[in-house]
Amino acid sequence: MTDASKYAAGDFIADVVREDNAKGTYQGRVQTRFPPEPNGYLHIGHAKAIVNDFGIAQQFGGTCNVRFDDTNPDTEEAEFAESILKDIAWLGFTPEHVFHASDYFEVLYEWAEALILKGLAYVDDQSAETISEQRGGFGKPGIESPYRNRSIEENLDLFRRMRAGEFEDGSRVLRAKVDMQAVNMQLRDPVMYRIRRGHHFRTGDKWCIYPMYDWAHGQSDAVEGVTHSMCTLEFEDHRPLYDWYLDHLDLPREQPRQYEFARLELTHTVTSKRRLAQLVREGHVDGWDDPRMPTLSGLRRRGYPPAAIREFCTSIGTSKTNSRHAIEELEWFVRDELNRTALRRMAVLRPIELVIDNWPSGPDGAPVVEWFEVANNPENPADGVRQVPFTGRLYIEAEDFEEEPPPGYFRLSPGREVRLRGAYFVTATHADKDGDGRVVRVHATYDPATKGGSAPDGRKVKSTMHWVSAEHAVAATAALYDHLFAALGPGEATGDPLDDLNPNSREVLAGCRVEPVLAETAPGQVVQFERLGYFALDPDKPMYFHRTVGLRDEWARLQKRQAAQG
Ligand code: ATP
Ligand code: MG
Repeated sequence: MTDASKYAAGDFIADVVREDNAKGTYQGRVQTRFPPEPNGYLHIGHAKAIVNDFGIAQQFGGTCNVRFDDTNPDTEEAEFAESILKDIAWLGFTPEHVFHASDYFEVLYEWAEALILKGLAYVDDQSAETISEQRGGFGKPGIESPYRNRSIEENLDLFRRMRAGEFEDGSRVLRAKVDMQAVNMQLRDPVMYRIRRGHHFRTGDKWCIYPMYDWAHGQSDAVEGVTHSMCTLEFEDHRPLYDWYLDHLDLPREQPRQYEFARLELTHTVTSKRRLAQLVREGHVDGWDDPRMPTLSGLRRRGYPPAAIREFCTSIGTSKTNSRHAIEELEWFVRDELNRTALRRMAVLRPIELVIDNWPSGPDGAPVVEWFEVANNPENPADGVRQVPFTGRLYIEAEDFEEEPPPGYFRLSPGREVRLRGAYFVTATHADKDGDGRVVRVHATYDPATKGGSAPDGRKVKSTMHWVSAEHAVAATAALYDHLFAALGPGEATGDPLDDLNPNSREVLAGCRVEPVLAETAPGQVVQFERLGYFALDPDKPMYFHRTVGLRDEWARLQKRQAAQG
């Protein structure tokens, strides 16, 4: 298991835990939970919560559980729950236990009866709209329900009959009797239970009433013995209700406490399961694990190393103010990790032929094949070397040749000498074109004295290019990606993120030619295609590579630009 103590997002929550430990609040016990609702796949925002929840527990020698917040049968599915556990494991974390709020439906029900018996909860026969209207607003007083002062006996009877299925969906709710004039809207007699005949993926048709989030959440924390219950800032004004419920239940041990931290938002990205579900449903992407999606399964397919995601989440820490991070900052961590770990390979994405006219033939008349030893990763000698075949017919990138080079173009052009990486210096002579005038083949000569890529007379060349031997090359497909959303803040201008969808977020190059050793790439493995970026082999599609990230540090460029703008 990952040593998440390294990833403990220190910040203010760690300070709270230290204080509690000093005071002996929970006898030094630290227990957290990550509470996903199984209504979609996890995204990069959840990674921050996971790193935080597990990190705090590990930093203080505590435990962290997963608890599925499965209180809404309409939207939740086993498929989502499975994917969530898989993603958490992939990210490098192992929950102590996997719990479900639905495990506690019975005790939650009993506790609701306990509140009724205390005169602190009542059955309301009004419609959802009426209840919502009566709640009022800021500076607008709440109106008490005509059912608010029902007798305890009547409430108990009605609530039992709600559970027994005697009433129609939506016809009644159980509400907490808190304060209809509270400044905090959450406290204006919140709904605790609703009637809803939905098939629950775990409890089936056993229940026709379901607890609301606020009633389920804190009580589930209490059942499990959670000490520090972390969530995102939008729940800040739910905290008084969280405490109110717990305060009125006479629980045997110290109550859990809720702490809120800022949501993670990224530029060019939506992190809302509802929106992500829409992208999938409407076919804007290939699925939840499309490499353009900010889901953990999408990032995995794209080749993001889990360590990079953890490091990123740790570096941004927890704070109390919402802010949007540049996606380039996350990419920086991805590149940093892959630079250390990814094997270097040569691949030509948009090939044209390079024919070396003075290349020798062997005694059998066939062109000679030379094998060059090339380092797998100059950053890590332990990764060893590989043999790369070189012959008189190669593929190079189409953009690495210009018949009439513009100023500043130092790659191949007629009369110009360049280095073929690790092999020889070559000088272009002329090009063959197709009927449309497009270059299909470049002719060149090589200098046998430059074997290995340097000239004995010390002469220099201005560029080094990658190549693959045509005869040995393996066919591959490469998918290049741009932001799924063109705008920094998708939907900010019009309210609908779909308006900002980038129509060119994916470019698929089907005719790539790559060096033979790439045929041995493991599904999901990420390698560096020299000069082109990091590429992950798709776990399912043979020889289909996704560009994880380019080689250039866009984050540094962005910071420079921002600094220049003052
Ligand atoms: P969404 O708004 O995408 O539907 P959610 O908050 O409803 O997300 P949950 O499954 O309820 O999703 O979230 C589980 C945990 O992850 C919660 O503690 C939630 O606060 C946290 N979380 C969700 N989104 C983010 C985010 N963008 N940044 C940090 N934490 C997040
Ligand atoms: Mg939620």
